[in-house]
Amino acid sequence: MKKEVLSDVATLAAPQLERTHCTRCNGSGTRGGFACMTCEGDGAALTKRGQAARAYMRSLLVKRAQEVTVGDVIHFTVGHLKIASRVNRIDILAGANIRVRLHGVRKKTGDDIAICLPIGRPVSMAYTVTELQVIRAKVEAYQAGLTKTGEVSRKPRITAQAA
Ligand SMILES: [Zn+2]
Repeated sequence: MKKEVLSDVATLAAPQLERTHCTRCNGSGTRGGFACMTCEGDGAALTKRGQAARAYMRSLLVKRAQEVTVGDVIHFTVGHLKIASRVNRIDILAGANIRVRLHGVRKKTGDDIAICLPIGRPVSMAYTVTELQVIRAKVEAYQAGLTKTGEVSRKPRITAQAA
């Protein structure tokens, strides 16, 4: 197995989500001198298809605390630092409110790190650039297979195979 390089901040172009001219601000990004609330100053808004693809993308990038498994690489928050580490142990803390404690190792110092989260709390997954490229291709293929209203089309369209 090749050693995996983990970067705290993976740099990669985001998936191309389908956008359209924002009708609220007519594509200008501003309304009455303020940033348009609908498109957040972008001048473009996600189409229904783009919104559905973004929701799908988020489902790939974030897991609920109880869905994390040993071996997942997640972002640990330590103080104000965000540290990517592989989860090496999981404790379930029973009580009035069940909590999940995820353990990892801070690579730089070799220190054990842990975060304790209530069930349902979203955990941001830390992917390698290669993994993110796969996710990007998945999201774009998913979007291409959606109908105009953002539904998964019943007849899956064959899209260009990602190499
Ligand atoms: Zn707008």
